[in-house]
Parts: sequence; C-alpha cells; structure tokens
Amino acid sequence: MKRLILTLFMIGTFISTFAQKDIKGEKKAPVSEGVTLVQRLNKTSPFDLDEERLSLLKSIETYSDPYSDQAFKDYMSKSGEEAEELERTVPIYYAFRAAFDKVLHEVKTTKVKKGTVAVWMLYNMGFVVKTSSGCFGIDVHHRLAEDLEPYLDFLCITHNHGDHANKKLIQAMQRKGKPVVSNFNQESPLYMSKTATSYTIGNFTIRTDISDHLLDPALPDFVMLLRIECGKDAGNFSLLHCGDSGFNPAHFKNVQGPVNMVVLRWGAARENNILGNGEGQVQTKYAILSHLLELAHKPYPKGQASITQTLKHLPHVKCENTIIPFWGEKLLWKNGKLQ
Ligand SMILES: [Zn+2]
Ligand SMILES: [Zn+2]
Repeated sequence: MKRLILTLFMIGTFISTFAQKDIKGEKKAPVSEGVTLVQRLNKTSPFDLDEERLSLLKSIETYSDPYSDQAFKDYMSKSGEEAEELERTVPIYYAFRAAFDKVLHEVKTTKVKKGTVAVWMLYNMGFVVKTSSGCFGIDVHHRLAEDLEPYLDFLCITHNHGDHANKKLIQAMQRKGKPVVSNFNQESPLYMSKTATSYTIGNFTIRTDISDHLLDPALPDFVMLLRIECGKDAGNFSLLHCGDSGFNPAHFKNVQGPVNMVVLRWGAARENNILGNGEGQVQTKYAILSHLLELAHKPYPKGQASITQTLKHLPHVKCENTIIPFWGEKLLWKNGKLQ
C-alpha cells in the first residue's frame, strides 16, 4: 500500500512539474496515453503477470516501435528543452523519462533497513542497488544518467556498448574519484577487469569473469560478467549480472554457485545454459528478464528484444520465479525473498 501511495505521489509530482511548465512556457500538456500508461503500469507488479500487466506490456511495444532506432538517437542527442518537449508529447519517451524521475527520487529518499536491499531497474539492463551501507549502479544508461552520480558509490559496466556504458555518467563518477568497474575504461585502472578478478568496495565484494558478446566470434572477450555480494548488512544478498554474454558456462567459473538474483537477457533458450548445479552454473530462485525494447536498436526482429518474444521465452526459463520488471520498477529483497 505504501508503495502504491508513493508511486501515485510520484506520478502526481511528475505531472504537476510538467503542468507548471505548461502554464509558464505554454507547452503542450503531457500526452494522455503516456501518463495513463505509466499510471496503470505502476498499479501492477512484476511478480503478478496478470491480464492487465500483460496487455500493458504488449501495448508498450506498439508505443516504442515507431520511436526506436534513429528517432531515439535523435531524441537522445537533443538539448534538454527539446528532449523534454518530446517527453511531453511522445508516450514512450514520457515513460522513459518518468522511469528516471521515479528511480532518482526513490534512490534519494529510500532508507534501506539492515538486512534488506532495494533494487531498481532503470532501463535496458541498467540497475541501481541500494543497501543500508551503500549504493551502486550496473549498466546504468539514460538521457539523464549522470544525475544519479551523487547517489552512487561505484558503477559497474559489463561492456563498452552505448546501451550499457553511459559516457556522461562514467565521467561524472571519475570527476569524483569513484570506482568504475569495467573491462574497457582506462581511466579507472584499479578497476579494469580484463581477466576474472575480485574487488572489495566498502561492504561489497565484486567478482568478474570475461565472456564473448552473444556468441559473436568477432567479440570473444568483450563482456565482463559481474557477481556482487552485498555483505552482512544486506542480509548477504548477492546478484549476478550477465550483460550481453553468450551464456557459455565456461565463462562463468569465477561467478558460479548459489546467488539470490540473476539478471539474464530476454530468456532465450541458451540463457538456461548457466542455470544448474554444474561447473560454471548458478542456482537462483529469481531470474530477471531484461534488455527489453532497447530503443536505439531497430524493433524486433531487427535488433530489439521484443516484449512479445520475451513473454514467449518466460515459461521455458529454468527458474521458479522469472520476472519481467519494466523501466523504473523497484524490487525489494527482504527475509530471503524478492518482492
Ligand atoms: Zn552489447
Ligand atoms: Zn546491449
């Protein structure tokens, strides 16, 4: 209930922020479909894939398709004012922006109790994780990503592709001397992971391993997998982020074993290769399907992971709780459960 009230409050704040600008700047009112879409989605839960949520997820796809690829790249390269105008008038960009404002507000204001962990999905494979002792990001990418810097103790990036590595956020982290763990960023040499490595930052332990990019022979060592143990104060919560890996267990040996949450891609058959009890495999109760509607790509089947296709994969993922959170949604780890 609390969550619902906060969500409604957030939507109200977001709409009224824009409404105020409308009066002063005589800008168009937010396009009603975008507002309605976000409001309806925020009333559903990724843990309950009911008819309402299913139909919303499917309609999001129809909103995103015409505004993907070049249209999205153009939007991302616009000045703040021009981009905001598009966020007011294009439902999918409204949802994209609303997700950021929600995550930023919640990361700022959420007080995480000992033994619990808050996890936000921002966009694509981007996550923000907050415990009682620290906060970090993985593959955080958004037009406004750098605004998250003040709240992040460190940033992890699985590989140097634009939908995972946000240059402005990396630079903002570096200006503050904060660790950026990656396999490509020369500016953070202490946290450059070209081979399987372990790091400790605060109460967090990070283990990496190196994988091909989606089995592409031209990119054999392009992706850095990440396993992060969040420490005692976080109820020993651990997560594995697979990035755009090819899911070959041979590349998961330094991150194998039981883990609380795994970020897969879109649940394709080969992603099951890393789930199990064997060498290079992980055991988990919660699998997250991600990389949905990466707007800089052409719509499915020309690049994007579509929601329709992801929903077809879902029942075949070998994990008892496989969920599809959407942009801006928050998951809470509490008493050994993700909720
Ligand atoms: Zn990639
Ligand atoms: Zn990607």
